Amino acid sequence: MAKVFFKEDRCKGCELCTTVCPKGIVVMARDRINNKGFQPAQVIEQDKCIGCAFCAMICPDVVIEVEK
Ligand code: SF4
Ligand code: SF4
Repeated sequence: MAKVFFKEDRCKGCELCTTVCPKGIVVMARDRINNKGFQPAQVIEQDKCIGCAFCAMICPDVVIEVEK
């Protein structure tokens, strides 16, 4: 099963990654902010991830890593 990791403190909250996930499991956290002052992206329902890495490819700040 694929696993998605975020270097959360690098996230600038642009939400690009949330637009490309075919499973709709990348969402913005609404319960916390990172040390840049943004609500960071996160994955919910990790078990639904198919490891396509679209989220990692689109992130301009190299926040996301996908382990297959
Ligand atoms: S690897 Fe693909 S399926 Fe998994 S969270 Fe990223 S965009 Fe979604
Ligand atoms: S694309 Fe990168 S910087 Fe933008 S919200 Fe997603 S993880 Fe954060």
